[in-house]
Amino acid sequence: MALIVQKYGGTSVANIERIQSVARRVVERRKAGDSLVVVLSARAGETDRLLALAREMSPDPDPRELDVLLATGEQITIALFSMAVKELGAEAVSMTGYQAGIITDHHHGEARISWIETIPVMERLNEGKIVVVAGFQGYDDEGNITTLGRGGSDTSAVALAAALGAEVCEIYTDVEGVFTTDPNLYSKARKLERISFEEMLEMASMGAKVLHLRSVEFGMKYNVPIMVLSSFTDAPGTLVTKEDEEMEKVVVSGITYNRNEARITLTDVPDMPGMAARLFQPLSDEDVNVDLIVQGRGSVPGKANISFTVPQKDYDKTMRVAERVGREIGAGRIHSNPNISKISLIGLGMRSHSGVASKMFTTLANENINIKMISTSEIKISVIVDEKYTELAVRVLHDAFQLDKPPNERIRIQEEF
Ligand code: ASP
Ligand code: MG
Repeated sequence: MALIVQKYGGTSVANIERIQSVARRVVERRKAGDSLVVVLSARAGETDRLLALAREMSPDPDPRELDVLLATGEQITIALFSMAVKELGAEAVSMTGYQAGIITDHHHGEARISWIETIPVMERLNEGKIVVVAGFQGYDDEGNITTLGRGGSDTSAVALAAALGAEVCEIYTDVEGVFTTDPNLYSKARKLERISFEEMLEMASMGAKVLHLRSVEFGMKYNVPIMVLSSFTDAPGTLVTKEDEEMEKVVVSGITYNRNEARITLTDVPDMPGMAARLFQPLSDEDVNVDLIVQGRGSVPGKANISFTVPQKDYDKTMRVAERVGREIGAGRIHSNPNISKISLIGLGMRSHSGVASKMFTTLANENINIKMISTSEIKISVIVDEKYTELAVRVLHDAFQLDKPPNERIRIQEEF
């Protein structure tokens, strides 16, 4: 008998019919012999509705109280779901984050799980019950309810799977798995059978929304295989797992895009030690995540231009810091452009294959798409382009690297050079 953790997202439990249909799947699985922990999200739209309610009450809601409010969304679904299971004649028990022993830090709205006290869940499992846990929530060491950030139920599920030593964590959603790129942007996108944790981590942080970033980190750290699949069909999903030799052979696994970045340039910064620190330290103090950074020559010798990108939501904050620091250090001017997009190619095979970057740049050049910034890591190449080219860039790159074909049918990259 295997222990399985399953997580169902908001669209999978959106209404009574959906909850009943998921309950039927779960009960069947239980009857087949598996021990099940089921982690649920709030109904689709519920967390947004609660957020809007809070904003009606206060433009800047108290973070502790906001978490108390937001956590109710998941409490509704675990109760309804457990009722549905009982209607089907099986045994289920709902547990809030607190009851399930999910302990986090104090960071309201973006809390990190620090520890899971597994005994309460284990006891219910040993009684043969389906344990139904509220995703997205935990509590800190003072007993305050915390939430894990939007999309955080994935992380609740994978963390529970790790703590309980589950065989696999199945993440049920409204898409059939992880795709080579966003199928809504390009219909030729292809579902991946398998992908490594490392690639998935890059995909999640580069804008693919299928899994919460922290959930992939947990999966990788504790080696919990994550299966992403649809609760609406029986199609096989995508397995996120430890890398192996076969995966290494795939040069490009996926293409992501992120329209929610903004670029800021400080011109003619004095070119001397400590200037970058003067700029980036206050940004990090304000919790701004700087992404790409490029430094180049300024208009005169001894001066440098520094360009960097930040999430669009932090744009105003960043501009305030940049303007202040710019004055203090005697920089030239500040240019900014919120209408940029980051396009990334991700693939383990980049470690051992050359020519990926040049093929990417040539492909974009052939379409007259200007590259504004470039950054690379061992398994990723990202470029910044004008936002209006997002779709075109993704499509031509998807074609150029033949991502619509299974990996073993693609032309090997070196053969073209
Ligand atoms: N209900 C939360 C949200 O909408 C958490 C989740 O669904 O993963 O962000
Ligand atoms: Mg999600």
